[in-house]
Amino acid sequence: MTNKELADLIFPEITKTIEDYEKMYPERELREGAKVTRYAPSPTGFMHIGNFMSSTISYLLAKKSDGVFFLRNEDTDQSREVEGAVEHIRHILEHYGLNPDEYEYRDTDTSKGAYGPYIQSERKEIYHAFVKHLIEIGRAYPCFCSKEELDKTHEEQEKNKIRTGYHGRYARCRKLSIEEAAEKIRNGESYVIRFKSMGDFDVKFPFEDLVKGKVELPENDMDVPIMKASTGLPTYHFAHLVDDHLMRTTHVVRGEEWLPSVPLHVELFKTFGFKAPKYIHIPLIMKKDGDSVRKISKRKDPEALMEYYEKAGYPIEAVIESIMTIINSNFEEWRTGHPDEDFTEFEFSPKKMSSSGAFYDLDKLDNISKNIISKKKASVLYDELLEWASKYDGEFANLLKKYPEYTVEILNIEREQKKPRKDFANYSDVKGKIWYMYDELFDIWTKKREFQSVDDIDLIRQITKVYFEKYYDSADDKEVWFNKIKDLSQEFGFAREVKEYKENPESFKGHVGDVSTVLRIAITKESMTPDLYEIMRLLGKDRMIKRISEI
Ligand code: GLU
Repeated sequence: MTNKELADLIFPEITKTIEDYEKMYPERELREGAKVTRYAPSPTGFMHIGNFMSSTISYLLAKKSDGVFFLRNEDTDQSREVEGAVEHIRHILEHYGLNPDEYEYRDTDTSKGAYGPYIQSERKEIYHAFVKHLIEIGRAYPCFCSKEELDKTHEEQEKNKIRTGYHGRYARCRKLSIEEAAEKIRNGESYVIRFKSMGDFDVKFPFEDLVKGKVELPENDMDVPIMKASTGLPTYHFAHLVDDHLMRTTHVVRGEEWLPSVPLHVELFKTFGFKAPKYIHIPLIMKKDGDSVRKISKRKDPEALMEYYEKAGYPIEAVIESIMTIINSNFEEWRTGHPDEDFTEFEFSPKKMSSSGAFYDLDKLDNISKNIISKKKASVLYDELLEWASKYDGEFANLLKKYPEYTVEILNIEREQKKPRKDFANYSDVKGKIWYMYDELFDIWTKKREFQSVDDIDLIRQITKVYFEKYYDSADDKEVWFNKIKDLSQEFGFAREVKEYKENPESFKGHVGDVSTVLRIAITKESMTPDLYEIMRLLGKDRMIKRISEI
């Protein structure tokens, strides 16, 4: 019996050859240097910040070179599939504008691109043709070892301090004759197909990773499973080979946990006579935890998952910018010189990526975000807030809808100026900072009123009453308004100027700042607010009088 006959026995229905597929998926017609990249998630969970980082890099590489960025759903491990993961991944990409040029969405029955199917479970036939070829050339074989047998071998290896795995003399089924293997298959024994490796663990295998530079690892000598007969689906290693070859991927950007698999992957590519793609293995994402630095963790750190940023209401640009700063060390410098350019104009360089671990910092994101939000037009911020609140804060959304123009004016306080206020890090920050401008919230939110240096409540009642009876006039400009607060201070025995008070503290009850604080707290219940003049102008006299009457 020949290998070819064994291959026909296993895959009787597969008639297409590798050459047929080469013709069906020819080299892409792109300009010289164009990069073909992909994001290839397994739908086994929600998107992690590391996944986001690799998809951002893949997107950038393709965009910058007039190449192609495609999305491939790696759903071969169907037992681990998480419901909603596919839709979630797609949503995150769309939300951040990392739209793939080629994709396939089962739920909406839409697809784009000539290199599909882009869902691995729909590519069985293709994989089978490739596995069949390997069996024909004697580089793959069926293995009938049961889980129990493999576990036993594993234990034995551990006990004898031997490298664990299916290699060398432990690769038992490698030694079966073709006839023996065929017999077992005819008898209906269950099996997997394993790759017949030619590597030698004692020989070094050098390769180039675009981030880490020259890497040397032992050659691969493991006969890894490439397909399970029960599901007919390939393992990741094999699917990577077939898909990235046929989809003509030029650059594979993936987590560094795959680095040790490169010798195997390159061996697979070589066995077929294909050119392996270039590899960009991205580092782990680290965070500060007290005094130490550790890997960011899905379990411990909510910010490890991409859904966090959307819920908290970080603007899209802020999240992208913060990721870009950990992608390349020179991004911030580039940004200073190119403040208004789209991030896709930035030239990503794998060499400028940290190879040991990318340090991620939420405070930094907050700073970036505050800056970005401070530069938005109030009306734009209003629209974004409304969109966010409609999803995550119904109470706030209702207020925003009820008072559109008024809210834009509130958001505009200290905005259109050289140094705008930077007090919102995200959309979920906003309500807690402008709540007192809405009577609906003012009436129900009880904040502790701290009048600081003036603690005589009767005096406070008098100051506020006199202020509105005698001084406040909505027609006043800011200067007149402030002078009146000084007059009010004087009337009640407070210094008109802080300086005056400091020179002679015994002669005064306090100074103009204390009186302003009294007014501020009486009107807003907050001791720190932006421009009080603007706040008063927007609230209007009647609403303020009502508020002070309740002190
Ligand atoms: N499906 C693999 C994963 O989610 C993809 C790795 C790759 O990008 O090749 O880890």
